[in-house]
Amino acid sequence: MNILDEFDTIAAISTPVGTGGVGVIRISGTKAFEIIGKIFTDSDFSPRKFNHGWIVEGNRNIDEVIVLPFFAPNSYTGEDVIEIQCHGGINVVRNILNLVLKNGARMAERGEFTKRAFLNKKMDLSQAEAVADIIHSKTSEFAKVSVKNLSGVLKSKIDEIRTDIFEVLSRITAGIDFPEDVKEPEYEYLIEKFENIIAFIDKILAGADSSNIFRQGVSVAIAGKPNVGKSSLFNALLSLDRAIVTDVAGTTRDVLRETLDLGIPVTLIDTAGIRDSDEKVEKIGIDYSKQSLNEADLVLFVYDASKSMEEEDYQILSLLDGKNYIKVGNKSDLNVNKNGDDIYISALTGEGIDELRKVLTKKVCTIEPENLEFLTNTRQQECLRKAKNSIEQALLASNVHELQDLISIDVKSALLALDELTGELITDEVLESIFDHFCIGK
Ligand code: GDP
Repeated sequence: MNILDEFDTIAAISTPVGTGGVGVIRISGTKAFEIIGKIFTDSDFSPRKFNHGWIVEGNRNIDEVIVLPFFAPNSYTGEDVIEIQCHGGINVVRNILNLVLKNGARMAERGEFTKRAFLNKKMDLSQAEAVADIIHSKTSEFAKVSVKNLSGVLKSKIDEIRTDIFEVLSRITAGIDFPEDVKEPEYEYLIEKFENIIAFIDKILAGADSSNIFRQGVSVAIAGKPNVGKSSLFNALLSLDRAIVTDVAGTTRDVLRETLDLGIPVTLIDTAGIRDSDEKVEKIGIDYSKQSLNEADLVLFVYDASKSMEEEDYQILSLLDGKNYIKVGNKSDLNVNKNGDDIYISALTGEGIDELRKVLTKKVCTIEPENLEFLTNTRQQECLRKAKNSIEQALLASNVHELQDLISIDVKSALLALDELTGELITDEVLESIFDHFCIGK
């Protein structure tokens, strides 16, 4: 059966639910044109032309819209697709979706449009995963690199390895199947080929750590005793009023976390001021603070530079022994004696914040996102490692001139691992877990 016929027709709101200029409802499947024909005032559709008219329910106008028709297989999903652009706003978008559902579509599941695009071979799995990366990217640099995967950079690298492995496999197989006509390949040839393939995979895996840092980001905790200006610094770095700032010591009791875009995503953590306290809730906050300091990749240690460092400051500094930290003297707008390598800022006036941001970026961004050719995720890295292990086995066997029949088994396993990466060979569970990370409407 043609894969396009196996699917029912799905629909979803593809724009975020909320008030906005435009809302988009997407329909995909064999009934897409039939459904729009029942609820739209114009049914004269042709490729690459949009239609303007009204969505109607019986005699009632629902909204004035633009309809974009895409004819299979020239669409995102590879199926017939209709996109309705209506006025943004929760209710009008929902009304139109309900009308579409009433007329024969089913509500799409998470990522179902992209899943169909993958199943209909409009994109491979690395491209589908790039779609999710772009949607969920926490930094603009991450979105830029993810686009490279969407355009197939990783896919083309994998295709290169597959072509190489395939060439070796066909020569071995020909030698085995037609021993009278085709000589089996020399072992020197196999060894050279396998070494090159391993080096190529290693080159891709070399970027794995950078990819993981770029994906997961790093955490930076702000620590210090109460009232030195930690929450003010937290707000200043984020350019928003997220944490409560008061002159009452011990206000921050919970650990606050927000994402800061420094090229890589930085989870900025505002902690409760550390001091000896008998107050129950504050004590819990202080315990959390100490835990956050342990877990953070870097700590911004803040003290009040308008006063000299006190015993409590030194106690907190001693907790940071062996940790990566930056010492920040706050309240530089007051009377301050500057000395040493400390960075002086005023979280109140903003003085020195840009400088601190630069130092922070240099410390946490050990990778240069603009130099990343593409990203890999842990699933893809795992498949690459499996392929590499198999080729390493094949190399070992070639070195001792093992029967080529046996060598071909490892070579085939390497191919299977790469098939898993691109999605040619994938279990339903893995597929479900990948598309589960998407939003509805994508
Ligand atoms: P935290 O307890 O360490 O989080 O400190 P807060 O951010 O709540 O600030 C404590 C008090 O110090 C508040 O009254 C702030 O307005 C004040 N403060 C914070 N940063 C500065 C600064 O750079 N200069 C001055 N003069 N006051 C500041």
